[in-house]
Order: sequence, then structure tokens, then C-alpha cells
Amino acid sequence: MSLDAFVRCTCIRDGKAKPHPLPERFMWDESGSPSLSGDPTEDEWEAHDHWVQESCEHEGYLISEPLGNITRIQHVREFLRGLQGDPGPKFPILLKKVVYDGTHTGDWLPAKESPALLREVDLVLGSSDILTEGEKEFFQTMKRLCEASVATGNPIMF
Ligand SMILES: [Zn+2]
Repeated sequence: MSLDAFVRCTCIRDGKAKPHPLPERFMWDESGSPSLSGDPTEDEWEAHDHWVQESCEHEGYLISEPLGNITRIQHVREFLRGLQGDPGPKFPILLKKVVYDGTHTGDWLPAKESPALLREVDLVLGSSDILTEGEKEFFQTMKRLCEASVATGNPIMF
């Protein structure tokens, strides 16, 4: 079990994607993902999923990154707790929305929170002399995800 993160591209929203097989049923779900309205059959879901995968050159995702297994996420969580101070740096979004659990697959961070998350990530990367290679890699990955989310206005999905 491990945690992965994704940010969707904007091709569908921008009208650059291939035509949807069931255009009258197409909808955006609450996470900002393409979905189907009504009570779709298995065949309809299959057609939809197939379409998402080949709707554009990005297969629907601008960026897709593995963040690590449960042990690695736990390590990052403990590292961040150690780095917090009072007064001093605080990492509420990283701790409550990203590394609170090693396997929170299926939730997402709304795009409006991405700039604040990016500030937390930059704060950690600013202390790069105390980061191990693995920690640096984790926060650089988070930075790429934040930047993709800010650029597209799409959420960071886990
Ligand atoms: Zn695309």
C-alpha cells in the first residue's frame, strides 16, 4: 500500500479532448473529475473510463507522482512534527491533508488550498541543509504537484 498523487490536465474543460461517447450524460463530480450522471450501466462506465484514458495526450493527468509507502509517509509526518515550532514554522495542510495517513487514496486537496500548501512546502525546502535525499525528493515532488494544481486550477488528488 502506498500513496500516490495526481493533478488533472485541463484539456476536457478547454474543449481540447476527444468527443465524449455519452455527451448528454457527461458531468463533473465534486472532486472536479469527469463522471457520468444518472445511473450508468457497467458498459457506460467502461466507455467513459476508456474515453478518459484516451481523451487527450495526457491521458487525463498532467502529473502523476508516487509519494511513498506507509513507512515513508509516517517518516515525513514525524519529521514535520519535529520541525514545527511555537513560535515557528507550522505545516497544517501537509500534516492534516497530505501525510496524516499513508493510504488516504480517494480524497483530494481543493485547488484553492494549493498556494498555501506550496508555501508550506517551500518553507521545508528552505531548510534543505537538514533534509535527507529522500526527504528532499518527497518535498520536491509535492512542489511539482502544487505548481501543477496552481497552474491548472485543478485539485491535488490522492
Ligand atoms: Zn490533457
